[in-house]
Amino acid sequence: MVPRVVVDLSKANLKDPAILNAAGYLYSPILDKYNMGEQSVDFVYLANELPSFNMPGNLKQLYNYNTWLKLADKAQCHPLFTLKEYIGTDADRSSAMNLVRITNADLDTDDFGALQLDKSLVFVLETNEAHGMADQRAFFFKLEEMGLYVPVIVKRSYSFNIKDGSMLNVIRNTSNVQPIENLQLYASTDLGALLVDGFGDGIWIDAPEVATDAITSTAFGILQATRSRISKTEYISCPSCGRTLFDLMETTQMIRSRTSHLKGLKIGIMGCIVNGPGEMADADYGYVGSGPGKVTLYRSKEVVKKNVTSDKALDELINIIREDGNWIEPA
Ligand code: SF4
Repeated sequence: MVPRVVVDLSKANLKDPAILNAAGYLYSPILDKYNMGEQSVDFVYLANELPSFNMPGNLKQLYNYNTWLKLADKAQCHPLFTLKEYIGTDADRSSAMNLVRITNADLDTDDFGALQLDKSLVFVLETNEAHGMADQRAFFFKLEEMGLYVPVIVKRSYSFNIKDGSMLNVIRNTSNVQPIENLQLYASTDLGALLVDGFGDGIWIDAPEVATDAITSTAFGILQATRSRISKTEYISCPSCGRTLFDLMETTQMIRSRTSHLKGLKIGIMGCIVNGPGEMADADYGYVGSGPGKVTLYRSKEVVKKNVTSDKALDELINIIREDGNWIEPA
């Protein structure tokens, strides 16, 4: 299964179904229905707050254990326990899925020794350590040494100084940067480093000062970049240099504007034919500058059309994608 995405909506206005737009569920007031996008989260954490509208049928909700206990309708709702709550509550668990907050340090405690493992158990791995990624990595190694194969959602919490956007809980600090940019930097290195090594069955980014839609797109962006869950078209473009034969940013933007709905395709956009084909590595298609105003188009590593004039090159690229059966009309 691909890694799951959790976002926290416990502080949102739970009287308004449109808040789910930020989690990838687009609410239509006329139809009173939700449309799922490519980046729809799998779980929302509601802590102790109850929404006053019906949630989409395919969106799971996480509640703190004591609140979950009191829910009249527990369909699609799952409890989030502390370790102590979980080992003391034999009778009152979900038959489907129970999530337990845990840290690396917990693995050495008597509470962990008392834990009874079953298939409904999922760990939510947190950390309070300054070197959070290393701490969480150590957790995965220990789990493997113990031979325990319990799914783990990796959770990281980030707080920001609102005045200058700097982060409050990191060792290195990047001030005078917007919180979203700092979040992208830190979350991608913290979570991405684990995911590329195959650790983690889900991610949960907690950043109260950052808008939920930005957290959602950062989470899916990290999964895409680590190739663990593909939710959009991927563009591989060269950094550009003296050899670049077209405006790379403008061209990338133009290609994105017509192909960004082709989920799962990788398109290489390279400034020159000298090094471009090598640099675009595993792209499915390539758009490579081959002379002033000329572009050569690739299918994987194979040249399909040479020296197409740049005003026709994007249409030609789309034709190649269409011939391969990989084109879908934009919605
Ligand atoms: S692909 Fe060509 S233009 Fe792009 S960075 Fe490499 S050498 Fe420069």
